[in-house]
Amino acid sequence: MDASERVLRAVEASDGMTRAELAALLELPLGTVTTAATALLRAGAVAERTAQPDPGSATRLGRRATLLLPTGPRRALGIVIWTHGRLHTAIATYGGTILARDDIKASADTSNPALLEPAWRFLSGSHGPVDQIVLGVPAPFQRGVGLPPGRLAIPGPAQAGAGADSATGEGKPYRGYAPWLKTDPAAALSDRFGIPVIIENDANLGALGEAHAGAGRGSRTQLYLKLGERSVGAGLVLDGQVYRGVSGFAGEVAHIHIEDDGPLCPCGARGCLAARARKPLLELMEEAYDRPLSFSEVLRMADADEPAPARVLREVGRILGRPLADVCTFLNPGLLILDGALGGAGRHVLAGLTEQIERYCAPAVAAALQLVPGALGPDADIRGAVHLARIEALAATRS
Ligand SMILES: [Zn+2]
Repeated sequence: MDASERVLRAVEASDGMTRAELAALLELPLGTVTTAATALLRAGAVAERTAQPDPGSATRLGRRATLLLPTGPRRALGIVIWTHGRLHTAIATYGGTILARDDIKASADTSNPALLEPAWRFLSGSHGPVDQIVLGVPAPFQRGVGLPPGRLAIPGPAQAGAGADSATGEGKPYRGYAPWLKTDPAAALSDRFGIPVIIENDANLGALGEAHAGAGRGSRTQLYLKLGERSVGAGLVLDGQVYRGVSGFAGEVAHIHIEDDGPLCPCGARGCLAARARKPLLELMEEAYDRPLSFSEVLRMADADEPAPARVLREVGRILGRPLADVCTFLNPGLLILDGALGGAGRHVLAGLTEQIERYCAPAVAAALQLVPGALGPDADIRGAVHLARIEALAATRS
């Protein structure tokens, strides 16, 4: 693919880009991009306009600059983020402008991929075509493989086949995760929809979103902590790249060992952090208030500085902060970004995290580490999906 075609493809996968941004993205000399742009403008393949500062755009514009824009039909991608029991579904441009969106309650039956059908229906509705889909899933996930292997080490009838599995070297999928993710279903979905489908861990998408369009802009090494009513996960961005580990398990902070005699975990280990940080939050609150509460209600009350919810969230921060302090000493990140979906209530979690980082982190690491709330609210995963799709769309132009 020649420089001119690469520039055209990159402009098509954006909401407008400057020549300098194109040169950096495509790793081409600015002069080459300028020559290509002149030819494309002459041919009418791209148009030009002066940029308006647009905080919603993924393009970074510190000052007004001249943007190159696609003249053809606007390319869009479909995004489905299955997280915290919801399907955050959106159609967005490759530049990050959301064209349509819906927030759908996911079926509690996670054993069947049919739970995604409402999101697929939304994407195939009357919002215009998409040419790629990104699906975020609440599980460690390795592209082209699926869930990492694992087994629950409880002897008994439910594990009758465990020996056979050992003999073949095959592990069982995590009992707590959707079994239909055991083998990467992306190819089958791609056949069904006739367009590429990418599947990615939801916390990794959040990390990518904040790193490229949110609180992490400008920082090369950062940790993103995603926290929901019943789950916690992290995404690592190391030296500018999301780090997944060899099995897709990197960032699974919920499975850091904290208690030798703790309960068995669906991941096959004993005493994981998940067992301590998962359930008690709402249960503790409900005991204090003597009535059922929703997670969003707890967040609202904590944001209003009601003592009980604020205290519980600070405690969650402390529980997570202890092992994360070790992770930070080991990785020396510049930023720890807390899930912006927690809103103002996140400051209590950050307070608990900060206490532990100050107490247990190596001073040199703590001094270089900033703890901040996410800047994208509940949209970090969606923005991360846009970034991932864009990288995929541009990857073909590098060959
Ligand atoms: Zn575990």
